[in-house]
Amino acid sequence: MTLWTHYHTPSSLAEAHALLQSYAGRARVIAGGTDLLLDIRHGHLTPPEALIDITKIPEMCSLIQEGDDLVIGAGVTHTRIVTDALIAARATCLVESCGVVGGPQVRNVGTLGGNVAHALPAGDGTTSLVALDAWADVIVRDERRWLPIRELFLGPGQSLLDPTRDLLVRFRIPLAQEREGSAFKRIMRPQGVALPILGCAAWVRLDSSGERCEDIRLCIGPVDRVPVRAEQVEAAVRGQPIDPATVDAAVAAGRTSLSPRTSKYRATASYRQEMIDVLLRRVLPLAAERARTGQAVPEGVGME
Ligand SMILES: Cc1cc2nc3c(=O)[nH]c(=O)nc-3n(C[C@H](O)[C@H](O)[C@H](O)COP(=O)(O)OP(=O)(O)OC[C@H]3O[C@@H](n4cnc5c(N)ncnc54)[C@H](O)[C@@H]3O)c2cc1C
Repeated sequence: MTLWTHYHTPSSLAEAHALLQSYAGRARVIAGGTDLLLDIRHGHLTPPEALIDITKIPEMCSLIQEGDDLVIGAGVTHTRIVTDALIAARATCLVESCGVVGGPQVRNVGTLGGNVAHALPAGDGTTSLVALDAWADVIVRDERRWLPIRELFLGPGQSLLDPTRDLLVRFRIPLAQEREGSAFKRIMRPQGVALPILGCAAWVRLDSSGERCEDIRLCIGPVDRVPVRAEQVEAAVRGQPIDPATVDAAVAAGRTSLSPRTSKYRATASYRQEMIDVLLRRVLPLAAERARTGQAVPEGVGME
C-alpha cells in the first residue's frame, strides 16, 4: 500500500505553508506520525499525495521562556517536554501528561502539536494544556493568529485546523508563579498504551494566606465531545480551603455536572464516573500542596 508519494521537509513556516497551498488539499502535515500513519494505514484517511514534515522548522521545535510564559513549538516531542526542568517545576501537569503518552518510542517522536491537532477529548497533553489555559499560535485560512486552545476543538477528532492547509505553530502557557501549582493523573488499563480511560489536570492558585483557593482550572477528559473545563467542580473549590470537605464538595459537583460515556474499548460510564471521584481526590490536594510549598516533583512519568 502506498501511504504517500512525496515527502517534504521544509525548513521554514513560509515554505511549509506554501507547500500545503500548492497541493490544494492533497498534502497533509506530519509531525511524529504516531497518529497519522496509523490513520492512513487503517484506512481512516485517504492517503495524501504528499506529507509535509514540520519537524525541521526551528520555530516549531523550540522551547523558549518569554517573561512569565513558556512558548512551546508544536513540533516539540513529549520526551523533550518530560526532560525539561523548567516545565517540571512550573508547568508540572504538562510533564506528567506527556510522560504517560504511549511508551518511550512514541514519546520520542510524538509531538505536543500532533496531540492537539488530532483533537481527541482524552489526549493527555491536551488535557493539561486546557488546565494551563494555553493559547495556540496558528495559521488558519492563510491568517496567523493566537487563539485560546479550547477554540481549536470542534468534535472528537475534528479540529478547527484543516491539516491539509493550516498549521499549528506554537503554544503559550503561563508558568506557575508564587502560590500556584498543577498536577495531572490518569486512569489507564494496565496493558494499555493508547488513550486513557480518564485523565484529569488541575491548576490552582492559593490566596495570600496560602490557605484558600483563589482560582482554579480543571480539565477532565473524556467527558464531552471536546476537551472541557469542569466549571461546576471549579466553582465548588474556588474560595475554599483545599481540605477534605472541599474535595468532597468537588466530588459531589463532579457527580452532578459531568457525564462520561460508555466506551466499548475503555470503560463503562459508571466506572468512569467513579474514577472522576478518584482523580479529583488525588489531583486537587497534590496541586494545592505544590502551590503551598513551591516544590513540584512530577509523578508517574515513564512508568510503563
Ligand atoms: C502506541 C501508541 C500509544 C499512544 N498512547 C497515547 C497516550 O497514552 N496518550 C495520548 O494522548 N496519545 C497517545 N497516542 C497518540 C499519539 O502518540 C499522540 O497523540 C501524539 O502526540 C501525536 O503526535 P504526532 O506528532 O505523532 O502527530 P502526527 O501523527 O504526526 O499528527 C497527528 C495529526 O495532527 C496533524 N498535525 C500534526 N502536527 C501538526 C501541526 N503542527 N499543524 C497542523 N496539523 C498537525 C496531522 O496532520 C495529523 O492529522 C498513542 C499512539 C500510539 C501509536
